Amino acid sequence: MSTGFQTLQVTSSCTGLHLLLGSRAGDSMEMISRSDGSEFGLATLVGEHEAHGEPVTTVTLRLVRSEDAFWAQTALRWLSTHGRRVILRTARVMPKALVLAAREYGATVLLEMAHHKLEVQRALLGPEADAAPALLLQAQHLRRLGVGVAVQLGPLVAGLHDRPGQIDPLVRHIAAADIHDVHLSVGRLQPARAEALIAALGIEGGFEVQRRYAATSSTGSWRLSALAANSLREAVRTVVLGEGLVVDGCGCAAHCHLDLGQRKAYVAVQGPELFAGVP
Ligand SMILES: [Zn+2]
Repeated sequence: MSTGFQTLQVTSSCTGLHLLLGSRAGDSMEMISRSDGSEFGLATLVGEHEAHGEPVTTVTLRLVRSEDAFWAQTALRWLSTHGRRVILRTARVMPKALVLAAREYGATVLLEMAHHKLEVQRALLGPEADAAPALLLQAQHLRRLGVGVAVQLGPLVAGLHDRPGQIDPLVRHIAAADIHDVHLSVGRLQPARAEALIAALGIEGGFEVQRRYAATSSTGSWRLSALAANSLREAVRTVVLGEGLVVDGCGCAAHCHLDLGQRKAYVAVQGPELFAGVP
């Protein structure tokens, strides 16, 4: 059965399990924006993860395409009324209705940024990503509304972000926009993403990235060794801290200290309650 959502990642936050959810590729907008289908899918997913005993306290909704804003609003409302904290993660400027919903339900917004140049930003975050200045402008608007905002910096790429002048302009822009909280994400380069990135960087820049991933390119997915990923993360962390920003301020990747919303009581979705309210 297709529920419209899929779990992209499960991690631990300061308060409990943290799910990263995205829409299933190929689902039509009509199907996933139908309120009942969407809520049923969420209840099922959350219930599956809570079946082992640990509560899901935080859910990040990853919005990639413009139509994702529709199901995100339904999901935000359902999760909030069931006492879960929601993080909206996107590389797109959000429509007004979603901004207002984020304020109403006390959601945190996590803006994905990878580079100060739009063509590189889009190569890494998808063709529908917006430019960093547009995202930072909305970040300031969100903050004025009282919405907590942080930046997900990445996917970080070896041979790009650890070269002089490649991450610094973006980090300075983030600091100038008065955003303090950052999470660093070292990404895997899938072949399509690698191809788009090399096209955006040109021959010289592209060559440097290829050189750094060469050892693993034969596997089909360009992946750094743990050591190389760590040294990339540390190089970027040095720049980020140098601009006075904070990495994972609460101790996890969910920016729990930005959660200022008055949350409704946690509602379990286990057992018979799983289908309560679902027609
Ligand atoms: Zn935390």
